[in-house]
Amino acid sequence: MRIVEYSAKTAISRSGMAELDYALNPYSGCLHGCKYCYAVDFTRIADAAENWGEVVYVKTNLMYLLKAEIKSMRRGIVGISTVTDPYQPVEAKYGLSGASADLLLRSGFRVTVQTKSPLVRRDVEIYAAHRNSSDVGITITTLDDRKARIIEPHAPSPRSRGDALMYLSDSGVKTWIFLGPIIRGFNDDPDEMDAIFSMASRTGSRVIFDTYVPYRGATRLMNSSVPGFTAEKSYYMDQGWHLNLVKTVKSMAEKYGVRCNSQQEEWLEEKKSDFSALF
Ligand code: SF4
Repeated sequence: MRIVEYSAKTAISRSGMAELDYALNPYSGCLHGCKYCYAVDFTRIADAAENWGEVVYVKTNLMYLLKAEIKSMRRGIVGISTVTDPYQPVEAKYGLSGASADLLLRSGFRVTVQTKSPLVRRDVEIYAAHRNSSDVGITITTLDDRKARIIEPHAPSPRSRGDALMYLSDSGVKTWIFLGPIIRGFNDDPDEMDAIFSMASRTGSRVIFDTYVPYRGATRLMNSSVPGFTAEKSYYMDQGWHLNLVKTVKSMAEKYGVRCNSQQEEWLEEKKSDFSALF
């Protein structure tokens, strides 16, 4: 594991994602090293992208830049760590995700974060205090430890994520579960997904789901580390499989009374929200 500190030119940028106005990435690269990670293809620092899971770059001047940049910015929705995990291990030392969330929320922005790490618990007061303008998503790809170790070798266990979700929800944070990526023949077992919906129901969390997208970097990592995985098997637009999956997921959402939508539907959900009171 290698950590490289550097000075960035900017802290925040316009987001290319329809559901966000801005993106802020304190780190480049991610020590969780998930094999399906699309961020490999969107990480500009070549060293971090080519050595995925082994090196992370830290923007040590992030807070200095952010304070100056937000002075003249129109308020909006900020995704913190859109191409890396905001609470990956380096956050324990640098605290940049928590500090930027705190500053942005106190300055009238809305903040959304998504993580696999129970480290997010340490910022529970920030997110609970701004419940109406922040939300925390916990990614749960599978509840099976053995499968998680294959595709998410250095990420915290599924159980610890479930515990973190419960803790956040009990503390008054608005939570959601990212169920995905769902990989055909790997983590698409209905019983397993049923247990994840049960967890969503217990914690009052919305569920956003997505299927595996075969980006080039991710497919290279999947091919070399997931037994039996082939590009053909990853074919995520298999219409029959995809239609069945959506049907199964939606019926579970109905069974548990959980709000649920696909990643593609997400921006529509966001547009329904009325954030005008925040500005
Ligand atoms: S935690 Fe997220 S950003 Fe990090 S490697 Fe896994 S999928 Fe990629």
